[in-house]
Amino acid sequence: MELPFAELYKIKMVETIKQSTREQREQWLAEAYNNVFNLRSEYVFIDLLTDSGTGAMSDKQWSEMMVGDESYAGASSYIKMKETIKTLFGFNDFLPTHQGRAAENVLFSVLVKEGDIIPGNSHFDTTKGHIEFRKAQAVDCTIDEAFDTTVYHPFKGNLDLNKLTKVFEENPLEKIPMVIVTVTNNTSGGQPVSMQNLKEVSALTHQFGAKVVMDSARFAENAYFIKKREEGYADKTIKEIVKEMYSYTDAMTMSSKKDAIVNMGGFIGFSDRALYEKASVYNIMFEGFVTYGGMSGRDMNALCQGLDEATEFDYLDTRIRQVEYLADKLLAHGVPILQPTGGHAIFIDATSFFPEIPKEEFIAQRLVVELYLEAGLRTVEIGTILADRDPETRENRYPKLELVRLAIPRRVYTNSHMDYIAAAVCNVFDRRKEITRGMKILKEAPIMRHFTVELARL
Ligand SMILES: *Cc1c(COP(=O)(O)O)cnc(C)c1O
Repeated sequence: MELPFAELYKIKMVETIKQSTREQREQWLAEAYNNVFNLRSEYVFIDLLTDSGTGAMSDKQWSEMMVGDESYAGASSYIKMKETIKTLFGFNDFLPTHQGRAAENVLFSVLVKEGDIIPGNSHFDTTKGHIEFRKAQAVDCTIDEAFDTTVYHPFKGNLDLNKLTKVFEENPLEKIPMVIVTVTNNTSGGQPVSMQNLKEVSALTHQFGAKVVMDSARFAENAYFIKKREEGYADKTIKEIVKEMYSYTDAMTMSSKKDAIVNMGGFIGFSDRALYEKASVYNIMFEGFVTYGGMSGRDMNALCQGLDEATEFDYLDTRIRQVEYLADKLLAHGVPILQPTGGHAIFIDATSFFPEIPKEEFIAQRLVVELYLEAGLRTVEIGTILADRDPETRENRYPKLELVRLAIPRRVYTNSHMDYIAAAVCNVFDRRKEITRGMKILKEAPIMRHFTVELARL
């Protein structure tokens, strides 16, 4: 018998999770007005809301917590983080921040002015938020294949060089301070960017005098896909690939809640000393002194250890194969999911799942509700509710895709949990014809309505 794949870790500490009955879930969901953000986490059996800050730290990370240095200035934990970032990414300077959006806030305070244009590959929502808040514009230059759920492309996160060239040629260069490359591309489904594309984007951007900033939350997962899918990288280590990726960039923003496997934290890496010095002023104002900026010493220690572990092949192989394992089960049953699957999540195409529900009735949210009622799974709607209303017309905006995201936390669930998730999704899929009506909104906030919206089932 061929030996099957098994997780490359064993479990030293456990947390109890509780099953519930359908009646209980009906009641809890009604009390939450059909919005899973309003549910208490103890009412959830398997929580796939996000992979952000929900990972399990290792024994080595926990032991690093004990030797953190909480000195206000010059702490050894700061020195350790500086050395880790230098070794891994090649940046001489860095600033710690409390999470990824704080890194964006500090860096963009220096780089982005009113009227600027910031090209990128489907900017993440907080990134776009920080650009638009400064009255600048984010321009999406992702390749067209990213938006076709039926075509296979190994690097659906790539930027289209023609689109990018056009942005540079049609706008005054002083209005384009940087290009943001997001690895992996979260918004398009955790899809990677190839090394070739990075190299070409970097050459083009530098030719036009702008900087390349890497939005790096899932940089290690991106490196794994380069190793697996791009010619010439199969024999390189993840750490070698990461080093090359960052050799094409001028700065990075990082949400350490993802690929640094900590519950909170972030940082900015710089190759340009002058930029670091300017950003330091904002870091001191918004985050904290340059040697701790929003993080405690113990958290910086756990982050350094997490970065080292996340860039080991065995860890990444276990993680990404777990996502694939779940995807294979769903595909075998005919469940419509985006392909190829990305690094951190599975996206169900809700429109194909429930073809009879009209788009005005929040199709993806109906599936979120149904998965919770079926099995206590908490997933998230990436559809019309999230897309929100047009700020001018106040009409609902209907996105290209109505998706439900199943984000897989790092090192938290076993493959038995994946089997359970797959069974729940397949059960709902088998009775999909019975579900022909969606949801209606009872109450919503003027912006970011998805967090607090109240809904009824039709
Ligand atoms: C999560 C994320 C951010 C923001 O980071 P936070 O730590 O949540 O503030 C920015 N960019 C990408 C690609 C992300 O996934």
